[in-house]
Amino acid sequence: MKVLSFLTLALLPLVLPGSLMAEAQEISKPQVIIMLGAPGAGKGTQALYLVEKLSLPQISTGDLFRENLKANTPVGQKAKSYMEKGELVPDSIVLEMLFSRIERPDCKDGYILDGFPRTIPQAEALSKYLGESVQLLVFSLEVSDAIIIERIAGRIVCNTCAAPYHKTVLPPKKEGECDRCGGKLIQRKDDSEQVVKDRLDIYHKQSEPLKEYYGARGTLFLIDAATSKEKTTALIDQAL
Ligand SMILES: [Zn+2]
Repeated sequence: MKVLSFLTLALLPLVLPGSLMAEAQEISKPQVIIMLGAPGAGKGTQALYLVEKLSLPQISTGDLFRENLKANTPVGQKAKSYMEKGELVPDSIVLEMLFSRIERPDCKDGYILDGFPRTIPQAEALSKYLGESVQLLVFSLEVSDAIIIERIAGRIVCNTCAAPYHKTVLPPKKEGECDRCGGKLIQRKDDSEQVVKDRLDIYHKQSEPLKEYYGARGTLFLIDAATSKEKTTALIDQAL
C-alpha cells in the first residue's frame, strides 16, 4: 500500500502537465460561499437553497452562538460573560467559534457563511485564516432600502399561535385577526420601521464596504434580489 501511494505521487507530475495540475488543485479546493446583503435581503433563504444544491453546510453566527452556549464550551462561556454584562461580544470570540466550526469534517468540501463577515476587520481575519486554501465565492443580494423596509415592517405575527403574515404580501382574511386561530396579529418590536432603518444604517456603514473588499479579489457577484425568491435563486444559479 505504501509503495503504491509512493508510485502514484511519483507518477503524477509526469502524467499531468503543469497547467492541468494547477487546474486539478483548483477544483479540489473547498468551496466557501459568503452571502452578503442587508437584513431582510433574503440571505438565509438563498443560503438554504445553496445548502441543498451544493450539499454544503450553512454556518450562521446565530447558530454558532446558540451551539456554543448550549454546549457550554470554553469559548461559549467567554461569550456569555460579555452577553451577561450587556456588552458586545468581541470579534476574537466570534472568530474562535467560526474557526473551530470550519475545522469539522462536514466542512471539508466547503461551507456557506450566512451573516459573516459583517465588517472589514472580520473579513481580513477570515482571509488571513483561509489564505489560498479555499475557492471563495461571494454573493451580494442587492435590495433597495425602501423594499427592505416594506418587507420587514409589513410583517405581522399571531400573538397566540405565531403564524406569520404580511400586510401586503400575505394578508389575513380579516384585518388584525389570525386565519388559523382568531388570535390578535401584532408587529414584533424588531420589525418596526425605526428598528429596520437603524439596522440598515449599520449595514451601510459596516457591511457595504465588504463589496469593494471582495470585488477587488475578483470573486463577487452582485445579485438583484429585489423581486422574488425564485428570480433571485435563478440569478444565483446563473452565477454558479
Ligand atoms: Zn393564530
